Amino acid sequence: MATTHPVLALDIGGTKLAVAMVTPDGRTHGFLSEPTEKHRGPEAVIAHLFDMGRRSIAAAGLGEPAAVGISCGGPLDAAAGVLTGPLHLPGWVDVPIVAMAAESFGVPAVVENDATAAVLGEHRFGAARGADIALYLTLSTGVGGGSIIDGRLHRGAAGNGGEFGHVMVRPGGRRCECGRNGCLEAYASGTNIARRAAEALAATDRPSSLRELPAVRAEHVSAAAAAGDPLAAELWDETTALLGQAVTDLVNVFEPNVVVLGGGVTRSGTLLLDPVRAVVRDTAMAPAAARAVVTLAGLGDEVCVVGAGALALDLAHHLDLKGTTRV
Ligand SMILES: [Zn+2]
Repeated sequence: MATTHPVLALDIGGTKLAVAMVTPDGRTHGFLSEPTEKHRGPEAVIAHLFDMGRRSIAAAGLGEPAAVGISCGGPLDAAAGVLTGPLHLPGWVDVPIVAMAAESFGVPAVVENDATAAVLGEHRFGAARGADIALYLTLSTGVGGGSIIDGRLHRGAAGNGGEFGHVMVRPGGRRCECGRNGCLEAYASGTNIARRAAEALAATDRPSSLRELPAVRAEHVSAAAAAGDPLAAELWDETTALLGQAVTDLVNVFEPNVVVLGGGVTRSGTLLLDPVRAVVRDTAMAPAAARAVVTLAGLGDEVCVVGAGALALDLAHHLDLKGTTRV
């Protein structure tokens, strides 16, 4: 039975913290987004996050939340409610975030990998609504993944499944945060697109409009590529080719109904989506390629917050999509 109680959703990103109250219709209220300032360390950042939560509760004017949902990059232990050592938050080792949130807000709390939360949000309220098999890739500070299999959230044994950012696209290639070389994340995260651009500019005297920018970001590369800058076009074509290759592999493995791309890099819109779709169409095995719709996140920048809200709504309803009790 659906409750009318709102929940509080907290998203801990490497660059920004985002919070909102989320109602059972998936809408956000009192949405706030502020810089993470991760150099201040876990204690200060979490105090800031919880303060944002209290401000969001007040701004939303919906009363107290029934539960708190938290999304954060992995690795984490969802069942224990502990951030074991998120790649995007160096030094955050064994942070008992669920217990801290439950104590601070006085209601039950739950944590999941951010991309796992995001696919749940997209499946319930966004671009993957109703899909039996849905895959989600977030292209932001890192590259994360989440999946819905047979209509249910796939979490992995401890909540770390679906790390699509760490499929290998170039053996022996760029170093990845996870310790391997050649992962998708090492090429297609916003951070690494910017790094690759900086490296390419430093390695050559070739003219490029990117040289005029104080700091190159992923969207600068796609925009310059679209404007005809050859160096930017090479970088962007490599990015979309490798992403398309990884999505093709996932399409062949899962035969999904829908693959949703989200995160800051997707602000490049069709400049990202069209070439990735073309690779999948041209190279995935025919039955899977014909079925899979590759599209952009329907929830935009709020996807992780809505996903964390969906988790908290499920917790509040004592409805666990995996079929085990987790409170
Ligand atoms: Zn990796």
